Amino acid sequence: MTAERVKGISTSLIRRMFEIVERAKREGRDIVNLSIGEPDFDTPIEVVERACKYMKSGYTHYTSNLGIEELRIAIADIYKVSQENVMVTTGGSEALLNASLAFIEENSEVVIPTPNFLSYFTYAKICRAKVREIKTHPNFEMDLDVLNESMSKKVSAVFLNYPNNPTGVVLDGKTLKGVVEIAKDYDAIVISDEIYDKIYYDKKPTSLAGEENVVVVNGFSKSLAMTGWRIGFVIAQKDLLNEMLKVHQVNGVCAPSFAQKAVADILNEGIFDEIVGRMVKEFRRRRDFVYSRLKRLFEVVKPEGAFYIFPNVGIDCEKFCEDLLIKKGVCLTPGKAFGSGNENYVRISFANSLDNLEKAMKRIEEYVAEGA
Ligand code: PLP
Repeated sequence: MTAERVKGISTSLIRRMFEIVERAKREGRDIVNLSIGEPDFDTPIEVVERACKYMKSGYTHYTSNLGIEELRIAIADIYKVSQENVMVTTGGSEALLNASLAFIEENSEVVIPTPNFLSYFTYAKICRAKVREIKTHPNFEMDLDVLNESMSKKVSAVFLNYPNNPTGVVLDGKTLKGVVEIAKDYDAIVISDEIYDKIYYDKKPTSLAGEENVVVVNGFSKSLAMTGWRIGFVIAQKDLLNEMLKVHQVNGVCAPSFAQKAVADILNEGIFDEIVGRMVKEFRRRRDFVYSRLKRLFEVVKPEGAFYIFPNVGIDCEKFCEDLLIKKGVCLTPGKAFGSGNENYVRISFANSLDNLEKAMKRIEEYVAEGA
């Protein structure tokens, strides 16, 4: 009965952790959950106020499939492209699925540098393509020679995600352009997921917007703490955008109109950077704190963006996470969720209060001292 394309998709790892957390909560235990992949801040009041105003004044209908003009223009201005290259989607996830369905051919290969966001593996499966992983451990940088060796005419797409979930690594512009050039040689599309591009601490991420064979995926879920609002976008050459529109018109159809209007105002009033800056300031304090504590215990790369850190805990990640949760009430994500080669890693989200992070670090230290 089940279609082949969904048969290989597993939800068991996340479900098991979720079940353990729920059971512990039912038992009345104090759980610090650092497995969550969204900002802990509520959506900024500036966005909420504008959205309410638009909701009351009738912005509750369909918009153009491509999105409202003022939002497309505002996004185009940020990335220095034309509005014709911008399509608004229902979150970054819809944009990723549109790009996958439009460009990943059945039985082709999809290159995914690992560790990486779990969903890319799922998109490849839905498209019935084979995944070719490129391991980037231990510094999580991409080696262009390794990429070159993995490429062939069978490759239809290469997924990139910088700043990266789960490592926080930001790849330099030269290497990114190198990936684009290599992909071009094999007529492959680069799907560059830049959803964390506004959350960075050291080097500024380079966008691949405007490159010929690239689909840039982005949105406001993370930068404006709007995960529940579903506003994403793609930037691509017009011919590529038209192919994705064929999927989007039957998939996301259009993003919520009042939310599109609210975000357009935030961008056009010039207050976007200030709002994001408030959150990034807080994330930076937490990043510095968590990194300073973890580096005493584990081999760990300092995140330059996003709000995750990915230490090597030296033992099987599932055992580490389950044990830590049961014994110390701290919930992390096992590295296995992010591709192969991550068996000894765990993802820690620092999108949580400093108080909770302090509590979690103490408990992890105790756990390690007791002999993990
Ligand atoms: N891309 C990456 C790398 C993510 O981490 C996430 C969410 O965690 C998404 C895309 C999905 O974003 P959205 O909520 O806009 O669909």
